[in-house]
Amino acid sequence: MHELSLAVSIIETVLKAAKEYDAKKILEINVEIGDLTVVSEDRLRFTLEITSKDTIAEDAKINITRMPGRIRCKKCGYEGESPPIEDDPLQNLLMSSLKCPKCGDTHTEIIGGRELGVKDIIASK
Ligand SMILES: [Zn+2]
Repeated sequence: MHELSLAVSIIETVLKAAKEYDAKKILEINVEIGDLTVVSEDRLRFTLEITSKDTIAEDAKINITRMPGRIRCKKCGYEGESPPIEDDPLQNLLMSSLKCPKCGDTHTEIIGGRELGVKDIIASK
């Protein structure tokens, strides 16, 4: 379960940051998820709630921002939003060959949409 390991690493990051700043309570956690990471927002939210239980991050508000997928075409120079991908593991495997929406070439590189993790947190002392 991809979301569970992600949730664990998010909470670890948050708790470590809180310790550094001597925070006593985490109020909000801002998370960024790229559209090309195929992470389920609902499942992530759910696993974060479980993972934060009995820590100072319990009951923190979780804000999830989706980052659109962006590609750059090495052939025609197109740069912009990537074609949508399905929430399908096979599609995910094929992601290295995303088609350019302009010329249809598959020599594209992903320049956005793979963000995954904590952007920042709001905590109180
Ligand atoms: Zn192209």
